[in-house]
Amino acid sequence: MAIMFGFLKKIFGTAQDRLLKKYYKIVDRVNAFDEKFKPLSDDELRNKTFEFRNRFDKGETLDDLLPEAYAVVKNACRRLNGTEIHVSGYDQKWDMVPYDVQIVGAIAMHYGAIAEMMTGEGKTLTAAMPLYLNALSKNSVHLVTVNDYLAERDCQWVGTIFRWLGLTTAALTNEIPTENRKKIYESDIVYGTASEFGFDYLRDNSMAFRKEDQVQRGYNFAIIDEVDSILIDEARTPLIISGPVPVSRQMYDELKPQVSDLVLVQRDFCNRLAMDAKKELDKIQLAEGQKKDKKQLEIQQEALQKLWLVSKGTPRNKVVKRFKEDPDMRAALDNMDLYYYADQNKEERLKQLAELYIIIDEKSSEFELTDKGVLRWQEMNQSRNKDNENNLNKGDEFVMMDIGHEYFLIDQDDNLTEDQKIQKKLDIQEEDAKRKERSHNLRQLLRAHLLMEKDVDYIIQEEKIVIIDENTGRTQPGRRFSDGLHQAIEAKEGLAIQKETQTYATITLQNYFRMYKKLAGMTGTATTEANELKTIYKIDVLEIPTHRTCKREDSNDQIYMTEREKYNAILKEVREIHEKGRPILIGTESVDISEKLSRIFKQNKLEHTVLNAKQNEKEAEIIAHAGRRNAITISTNMAGRGTDIKLELGVAEIGGLAVVGTTRHESRRTDRQLRGRSARQGDPGSSKFFVSFDDRLLRLFASPRLTGILQKFRPPEGEPISAGILNKSIETAQKRIEQRNYTIRKHTLEYDDVMNKQRQEIYAFRNEVLNVANIEPLAIELLENVCTTAADQYFQNKSEVGAWNPEGYREWLMRHFPISFEEGAFDDDTSDVQDLESMASQKIVHAFKEKMARESSKIEVRDNQANPINEAVRNLIVRKIDSLWQEHLLKMDHLRTDVNLRSVGQKDPLTEFKHEAFHMFDEFSRTLRTEIAQDLFRFEIIRRPPPSIQQILNQLQMETNRSFAKELDVET
Ligand code: ADP
Ligand code: MG
Repeated sequence: MAIMFGFLKKIFGTAQDRLLKKYYKIVDRVNAFDEKFKPLSDDELRNKTFEFRNRFDKGETLDDLLPEAYAVVKNACRRLNGTEIHVSGYDQKWDMVPYDVQIVGAIAMHYGAIAEMMTGEGKTLTAAMPLYLNALSKNSVHLVTVNDYLAERDCQWVGTIFRWLGLTTAALTNEIPTENRKKIYESDIVYGTASEFGFDYLRDNSMAFRKEDQVQRGYNFAIIDEVDSILIDEARTPLIISGPVPVSRQMYDELKPQVSDLVLVQRDFCNRLAMDAKKELDKIQLAEGQKKDKKQLEIQQEALQKLWLVSKGTPRNKVVKRFKEDPDMRAALDNMDLYYYADQNKEERLKQLAELYIIIDEKSSEFELTDKGVLRWQEMNQSRNKDNENNLNKGDEFVMMDIGHEYFLIDQDDNLTEDQKIQKKLDIQEEDAKRKERSHNLRQLLRAHLLMEKDVDYIIQEEKIVIIDENTGRTQPGRRFSDGLHQAIEAKEGLAIQKETQTYATITLQNYFRMYKKLAGMTGTATTEANELKTIYKIDVLEIPTHRTCKREDSNDQIYMTEREKYNAILKEVREIHEKGRPILIGTESVDISEKLSRIFKQNKLEHTVLNAKQNEKEAEIIAHAGRRNAITISTNMAGRGTDIKLELGVAEIGGLAVVGTTRHESRRTDRQLRGRSARQGDPGSSKFFVSFDDRLLRLFASPRLTGILQKFRPPEGEPISAGILNKSIETAQKRIEQRNYTIRKHTLEYDDVMNKQRQEIYAFRNEVLNVANIEPLAIELLENVCTTAADQYFQNKSEVGAWNPEGYREWLMRHFPISFEEGAFDDDTSDVQDLESMASQKIVHAFKEKMARESSKIEVRDNQANPINEAVRNLIVRKIDSLWQEHLLKMDHLRTDVNLRSVGQKDPLTEFKHEAFHMFDEFSRTLRTEIAQDLFRFEIIRRPPPSIQQILNQLQMETNRSFAKELDVET
């Protein structure tokens, strides 16, 4: 495997080299044109934009125009030198002319690649060239930034070039009201965040009732800045527009006390177990050199078993953690784990685990109630609900109802009338729905208690749960965990629980960006994920050389046995570097750790600044100051991405910025991102990571072999462990997680693909309805279609009894349309299906035309004004599409949960999902057509303009949310 990879890498390498060589040749041409343009007057240079657009219209391609266009940008930059530009509240002097490496990056992006350029290499300026070139076609050109601040900054800053050259620019930020957005999109070049673009897409396609209300103008070319963060880290995050549900069954409040109790019972149980084990082990502590006898070994074995069990019931138990600081104990526990997870010891394992109430698997973020747990749950509920006269059997959440059997019993009961039977069945349905909801709420509450941690997964701000992005450590205000998990956490923390919401429209960022004809990106860190980017988005990654050679010194990791030793070492390191006056940036993986470190530094009188999720706004400013002499900045992961750290004068001489990593992150990309903060543009700098065996990465993903190594190389307290193999193991662990996360993302995408096809189909239909000038032909086609579909059902086979049902068809028509057909109208042996259905549709279409004429006669239509009847019909169709689509989305949501519950029967949930989703969509579109057809006879003209999107939003109290698919329903 390793050999093959090396081999592939070589090919990969040379292909990259060849491409670079090719691009450098183009760079020469750009520079030649640049020379040629130098004598032009400003106006003559500006006029080039106009000339290029003409030449494009006459058939020259953008590829043809590239060298000249890039040269014009470069030339314009030179002319801007010294100009004062107002950026983010400050005046700055323009001082940038693209370097050759930037032109290379710019070429790569025009050809739809991701340019990997290190932090500080000037990606913002690089993007200006492909943006300018592609805007010449007059098609939409979007630059996607990480946040609103950067959208505005980059538009003001680099946008200067475009404005100077006669193009229009705009920044699309969250504050811009819907009614101004159309104008924004009309600009040649638009800067904005992924969610703003994505939500506008959803609004255009699910809420705009008129063509004029749609704001976007196509998906032509987009460059995504910090592309790995958008396409990889945020890949699992769907954009969701939601509103309140009509009926809510939510019962988090009601269930919460019992869930807390159960969790407490388990914690107490585990604590007792751990203390017992500790006592026993203390008893057999022997003096140095003494050997344990048989009895003592037995005691030890028993104690270990207890500790093992504790680690399955409360993975972060303090006693267990303490014991694990001793390599021998750690090895013994690891061995026990290996032993129990061997197939032949399954029985024994299950027997052991049955002692617990809940089994928690921290690694896969899953948990499971044991029989003991279920029993306890039922007892607790029965005692609580003794006097509750509710027909719902509380405590039965874990037992699914067998509806088929229940119906059978009802049908057998001769004492019931038909009506009573139907009522009973409806009751059963309701009970089933309630029970499912309860069990779902219960699961989410347990998840909230067992696996979601305050200050790690979320923080509480102004009485609200605010999500912390696990990848960036940033807060995600306004976002909610999906599928009720957010409500469950609110319940756990004793906060007000938000109302249940329903999805009106949703899309993942991946699928949004896959709509663009051409997609490009830039970032400092993409090569480690090159494979994924290629497979999913068909984008290549090209590593662009740096302008100056990178002088950063990356040290080997320093690895410690315990967290305590690690922090001491970090403190020592920081002190030493600080004494020299060098600025230090310390990267942490969570808000929690950043605060912990901050406390340690305070105790040690080290002045510092903390940049974590709790202070998002000041982010750019803090980061910008991190390069000053003596500065110590503690930052969460990647906070401040997009703002670079400039060194204060004189800092380069003393060694530049020192980056200190407080752990290895789950993906190597994150580590590289942190490292890249130092030594930009040929500055000096250094980086070093500190790791301990208490770190999540090592705790959960390092191979058990490591423990063996540890036993051999155990250092004295406070000393780092130096063994070359450790560095390798850490990287292996990271690769394993990267692979796992990739699988999860791919899996999510496979589900989403199904939805995506349906969404595209329905949005295309909706857009057709919005865009056709005259709606009548479309309506007629629909009526005919409905008649045909129904006819196919009633006239299947003439010669088979029951498969030819003229009377059924007649009744069906009359039930759906206000039109009479004489008895026996379709009872004609000589006709075939086509004749019969066309007989029906002719009559119905005729009636429809008459209705249109009647409605038209009620009003006068002035010239060059939209025909109100036309608009009314259009409106009615669009509304029907929207409301049924929303219902369909809900059903699809349920289906997704359902298939996962079903995965027991050896069936592949994805296949099941695809299969049923197909049928559901089929049914949805049939219902949609039928209901629209019916409505075509039910509307009446009243004069009122259709509501604006803002009105609809207000009316529905809709929210736009980005919610996390935090719960990973994945088997890997
Ligand atoms: P990146 O996004 O690659 O991390 P930025 O676009 O934020 O980098 O630019 C980093 C810094 O480099 C900015 O301060 C910018 O002014 C400077 N810069 C970029 N390109 C040039 C250039 N060609 N000449 C001089 N300075 C440049
Ligand atoms: Mg940048």
